[in-house]
Amino acid sequence: MDKLMITVAPTGSLPTKKATPHVPITPDEIVRTAVACEGLGASIIHIHARNPDDETASSDYALFAEICQGIEAETNLITQISTGGRAGMHYDQRSERLRLKPEMASLTTGSVNFPDSVYTNSPQLIDALAADMLALDIKPEMEIFDASMISNAVALVEKGLAIAPLHFDFVMGLRGAIPATFDNLVYLKNTIPADATWTAAGIGKAQLPMIAGAILMGGHARVGLEDNIYFKRGQLTTNEQLVERTVQLAQTFGREIASPDEARIILGLAKPDGSI
Ligand code: ZN
Repeated sequence: MDKLMITVAPTGSLPTKKATPHVPITPDEIVRTAVACEGLGASIIHIHARNPDDETASSDYALFAEICQGIEAETNLITQISTGGRAGMHYDQRSERLRLKPEMASLTTGSVNFPDSVYTNSPQLIDALAADMLALDIKPEMEIFDASMISNAVALVEKGLAIAPLHFDFVMGLRGAIPATFDNLVYLKNTIPADATWTAAGIGKAQLPMIAGAILMGGHARVGLEDNIYFKRGQLTTNEQLVERTVQLAQTFGREIASPDEARIILGLAKPDGSI
């Protein structure tokens, strides 16, 4: 079994300082979080930007640039920029930030009903974002909110818009998307191509059981306040605590933790000798 890659998703688009004082909002707060989480065992950071004045999701290129450059200067983490649509649904708003050439970017391969809105990802938009990632040598993380999105991701390889082996992230337990059950986790894992790698991301109270399942089944783990702000019922948490708990769980189950450079090899971002 590969060593465990831990992705930290520290910010997302939704939690505000009012919901939890621990969510990093400004570029500097996000970079500080990245440094701390790398020290605890994270290998990948999933990046969103927020408008510092009102904490709303931002598609501002300058903010993404400040965050990415800070993380690249101060850590060895794999940077994974979100191309999610909460800060603006249009292609231009979601693709511009790819020019920063992060090592990875998220790519949602279908549409889904969020609890409060429709998250629209048309076939044309998916193809366009995938083409940009291919041209810029950015590895997509296929964000899977439902099983049908797996076949849409595989179709990108068939169309020459993505290169196998693919990497998937199963976003489970969001109301309107696939429920976070172990049956569904096994089903998703068995539905992706055999050479693909995968990460589980449970929303809210689903985060802990889904990463436990992933650790045991050879997947990888995503934690962070984007998906879940509680350590347990009624007790707020920090990104650092969530990474720390993931490391402890992995150690309990006898799974080693991947460093960022080891994660690069697992994801095919680097060759087994470490060269690019
Ligand atoms: Zn995200």
